[in-house]
Amino acid sequence: MTRLIAGKSLHAWQRDLPLLRTLQDMKETSWFNPALQPAAQALPAVGLTVADIDDAADRLRRFAPYLAQVFATTRASGGIIESPLVAVPAMQGLLAQAQGLDLPGQLWVKRDSALPISGSIKARGGIYEVLQHAEALALAAGLIDPNEDYRQFAAPRLRTFFGRHKIAVGSTGNLGLSIGIMGAQLGFEVSVHMSSDARPWKKERLRRHGVRVVEHASDYSAAVARGRAETAGDPMSHFVDDEKSPSLFLGYAVAARRLAGQLQALDVRVDAEHPLFVYLPCGVGGGPGGVAFGLKTVFGDAVHCWFAEPTHAPCMLLGLATGRHDDVSVQDFGIDNRTAADGLAVGRASGFVGRRMQHLIDGCFTVDDDTLFRSLSMLHDSEAIDVEPSAAAGLPGPARVLADAAYRQGLGLSDPRMARATHIVWATGGSMVPAEEMARYIDRGAALRGGG
Ligand SMILES: *Cc1c(COP(=O)(O)O)cnc(C)c1O
Repeated sequence: MTRLIAGKSLHAWQRDLPLLRTLQDMKETSWFNPALQPAAQALPAVGLTVADIDDAADRLRRFAPYLAQVFATTRASGGIIESPLVAVPAMQGLLAQAQGLDLPGQLWVKRDSALPISGSIKARGGIYEVLQHAEALALAAGLIDPNEDYRQFAAPRLRTFFGRHKIAVGSTGNLGLSIGIMGAQLGFEVSVHMSSDARPWKKERLRRHGVRVVEHASDYSAAVARGRAETAGDPMSHFVDDEKSPSLFLGYAVAARRLAGQLQALDVRVDAEHPLFVYLPCGVGGGPGGVAFGLKTVFGDAVHCWFAEPTHAPCMLLGLATGRHDDVSVQDFGIDNRTAADGLAVGRASGFVGRRMQHLIDGCFTVDDDTLFRSLSMLHDSEAIDVEPSAAAGLPGPARVLADAAYRQGLGLSDPRMARATHIVWATGGSMVPAEEMARYIDRGAALRGGG
């Protein structure tokens, strides 16, 4: 009997999706999304609105005085958790040289690797959801005065109160770090269910913060399922559900309007004549999905969002291309979900994100581990920016877009427009990686490039 994948035989999937064989061979590829729609048409179908992002931005502003007080690294920004946007002309030159092609436009890196508190993009969504939960609990219990500044969250009586409440999460590492550090700071009892991919230093760091780390021999989806099951039915417990949390999604979405402010300050124009390309490393999809949603509300059709995934874990690409989202996993197609990009080692994408964002993403491309290490080594040499393997996934993006003439023609992305384009690679994490581990990553990349 033929085994069925979401109701269809493998043979039928291969017939309907010619790209599938390349994915199964775990070779690098790019996929343009045929379901892309104009933003005006697709945004209402997302089911979340600009008012929802406003609400999230307001909440982060309310908590800023508290964050500035308890996390010294956020003091200089007044408690706003934000990262620099930097031009990387030397990296652009290296990439062009390595690809043997011209890379018109201007290349920038969004340094979420340098985000305070937890050093990755998860400091956006993860911390936001913990704060939202804490605020709701404190308000319901009448423990805070909403007219007073939120430094009151640091009061011992609040910490005692939160100490009776639990927060749990399943993670490949970085989400656990964000939820764990923020939750423990507020006084919550936090459990982090770590997948087998999680780096040992991430677990050790959490334990130092008093967080309970539960190690699973299984992958990310199973760690999430275990965490969800453990908390189900406990009214004192809140599970941060990375596979379907609107709160996480909105926390990420706030990044887009901050980026718009940075672009304006840097005098970078974004409109139909000056297209913006943003390359976002994708695991389960919440981070890149939330940021892309925010970007579409700000820039509409002028922004082109591309998701980058490991060749061994192309879960969002598979979910979107099959149209079956979380009904399919990479393992269903014999793809092993084994990659050095621990933050992206996810076999089944978020259906919540895939279904909402399926008409707003220009496409996905896959990157193999060697390319990740080569790219992070190039970024180190050319710009002295150090990122973890997952965070390097977006770097091949501009070359992929430039190689796809049919895609560009279809969207009216002419040569003169491409010459005026802005490319932003979202460098999603890295500043917390221990120095010796980072040195090994860079050495591995240098060796692959033939320089070490
Ligand atoms: C989690 C993570 C991502 C992807 O975010 P998802 O919400 O899982 O798609 C990308 N880069 C790094 C470094 C991450 O930790």
